[in-house]
Amino acid sequence: MAIRKAMVAGNWKMNGSIELVKDMSDAINSIKSPEIDVILFPPFPLVSAMIASGVITGAQTVSENTPGAFTGEVDAQLLKDLGVNYALVGHSERRSIYNESSDVIADKFARAQSAGLIPVLCVGESEAEQESGQTEHVVAAQIDAVIKKLGVAALKDSVIAYEPVWAIGTGKTASPEQAQAVHKFIRDKIASLDSDLAQGLTILYGGSVNEKNSELLFAQPDIDGGLIGGASLKAASFVAICNSA
Ligand code: PGA
Repeated sequence: MAIRKAMVAGNWKMNGSIELVKDMSDAINSIKSPEIDVILFPPFPLVSAMIASGVITGAQTVSENTPGAFTGEVDAQLLKDLGVNYALVGHSERRSIYNESSDVIADKFARAQSAGLIPVLCVGESEAEQESGQTEHVVAAQIDAVIKKLGVAALKDSVIAYEPVWAIGTGKTASPEQAQAVHKFIRDKIASLDSDLAQGLTILYGGSVNEKNSELLFAQPDIDGGLIGGASLKAASFVAICNSA
């Protein structure tokens, strides 16, 4: 992890409250360290409160479109103007529940980046894909959708989060060795196109990370930190995970 700055990001999904913003920001602001980037992705109604709390803030999704007649959608530029810095694109819940294709996700990536947000591209295989040995194929295809549309250089100002779908919210974490192997595959794949970019690229692991397993996961050479779901809703757990990065 030495060459890249550690990052720990919390994805609150459709959870949280004004009280939790206060508790969590107090906890995070008390451990502020120049050695780690801590980012929270609250639901949209809490974005302004999170920014006001001083915590680096991300959006859980953005529209792929520029402003217009898209009821219920949220524009990347408006988020940037509010003070948002990051946007998740391609979270597995967006892919599976809301049928977002890799093509649409590449458009969201592009729109986030052109508005000045840092896209966090989430990739990962399902349990069936993992069991049939498809992990590398699936992850490569999800990343290639962005590279084909935008070129490898677009990955420079981005983050990749490897989140095996079978590990999200299940308590079944990938072992440090399993996760490291996929992270190395991702870095090597990108290095074959641009070695400097790949060496500088932050690649997070996500999927049932908690304060007990984070240290070993983050100690792997190609794991630069984590994208944390459930454990980012409890200040003590999230702070312990940040401190292990
Ligand atoms: P989890 O979620 O930590 O609750 O498994 C991770 C995520 O969905 O980003």
